[in-house]
Amino acid sequence: MFRKILIANRGEIALRVVRAAREMGVASVAVHSTADADAMHVRMADEAICIGPPPSSDSYLSMAAVLSAAEITGAEAIHPGYGFLSENANFVQAVEDHGIKFIGPSAEHIRMMGDKITAKETMHRLGVPCVPGSVGGVAHLETAQIVARDIGYPVIIKATAGGGGRGMKLARSEDELENAFRTARSEAKAAFGNDEVYIEKYLGRPRHIEVQIFGDGKGGAVHLGERDCSLQRRHQKVLEEAPGPAIDPETRERIGQTCAKAVADLGYEGAGTIEFLYEDGEFYFIEMNTRLQVEHPVTEAVFGVDLVREQIRVAAGLPMSFRQEDLRVNGHAIEVRINAEKLPNFSPCPGKITQYHAPGGLGIRMDSALYDGYRIPPYYDSLIAKLIVHGRDRPEALARLKRALGELIVDGVDSTVPLFHALLQEPAILQGDYTIHWLEDWLKRNVG
Ligand code: ADP
Repeated sequence: MFRKILIANRGEIALRVVRAAREMGVASVAVHSTADADAMHVRMADEAICIGPPPSSDSYLSMAAVLSAAEITGAEAIHPGYGFLSENANFVQAVEDHGIKFIGPSAEHIRMMGDKITAKETMHRLGVPCVPGSVGGVAHLETAQIVARDIGYPVIIKATAGGGGRGMKLARSEDELENAFRTARSEAKAAFGNDEVYIEKYLGRPRHIEVQIFGDGKGGAVHLGERDCSLQRRHQKVLEEAPGPAIDPETRERIGQTCAKAVADLGYEGAGTIEFLYEDGEFYFIEMNTRLQVEHPVTEAVFGVDLVREQIRVAAGLPMSFRQEDLRVNGHAIEVRINAEKLPNFSPCPGKITQYHAPGGLGIRMDSALYDGYRIPPYYDSLIAKLIVHGRDRPEALARLKRALGELIVDGVDSTVPLFHALLQEPAILQGDYTIHWLEDWLKRNVG
């Protein structure tokens, strides 16, 4: 096992990794920008090192700064968390070139899945069902027209290098195609420095279902069921649950086996998520995330595993601590993402937390780096807390969520807590009957 690992991240996820490491007897090194000198992950880690000024490009995204920090502190491995450098194949390569272990998959697998066209081709080859669409990238409008006519409108134009819900454009008919195609390309160029796009059939009322997989890097892999992350605003997840209300055990087993087999064939190492749209009983692969997800705690709750501990173990060359037959769904878990944002526009709301009180009691988990008096810096993501509840079944989890939200106090900044209070009154939420468009429609009617 490693003696010391460095965590190339901040906020709740950095804290999450510190906690797993400490339970394993592994020392942790926090890195931080000057804006985060007083952050909780800095306080909680065994060591901390400043890696640059506030902008992420000069600190959390600076490969040179992170690598130097690892060398100076003698860290044997780097956990990237999510976001920042977690899916940067060049970073992984640089880490390994310095003789440091990257806690995650190989640079090759990250590169393969980071390019959405290659990812789709690979998954198709491995027997994973995909959305009908263009074979590879589409460079000309004429080709786009032929493909769109072939698969039928509406279609969605997506950036090969896309991420975070950006660079996607809908065309409902041929009239809209030219504009959508050109806009998608120029937005992709501006956001990702790569204007390659591809075309997919647009699914009208799917759910977002993602399968958690875990590979040992030696050809062994398991699946840990699915999460339903259909509640989204601007393609960003807002609430996630496991198991999916629309997925029965047989369907879970079928798609889970398909995913586990695919990543086993790749020799994939560590945690990963295969994302699907799910409509009329069919799964359609959209992308694979080669890292830990924000919403991993709902899976941990229902399967009773520690995914970060497992990541560290496998990176250290140990075998996985569970086999497929050990993994069984127990109850139901829901996560809500609490952001420092002001409704109705969800504009970021940094500032000083004047009072913070986390809910507690049976079945409650609060993943947050907040504390009384903490000043949320304006430079980073607005996620300030994840509230995860676990119950014997979905109604119990919902009741617990409502109770926990009632106990939570976050004063000093606006947050998305009122949104969840309101959502818990909605029959569609209570019944688990929603698609990826439900929240946007609801927001239009209720928040304006
Ligand atoms: P990103 O990497 O930017 O998150 P994804 O491919 O994962 O992009 O898609 C993000 C979201 O966009 C999905 O969760 C879904 O809401 C929507 N989406 C993507 N592809 C389609 C499609 N073919 N039809 C309908 N909606 C889609």
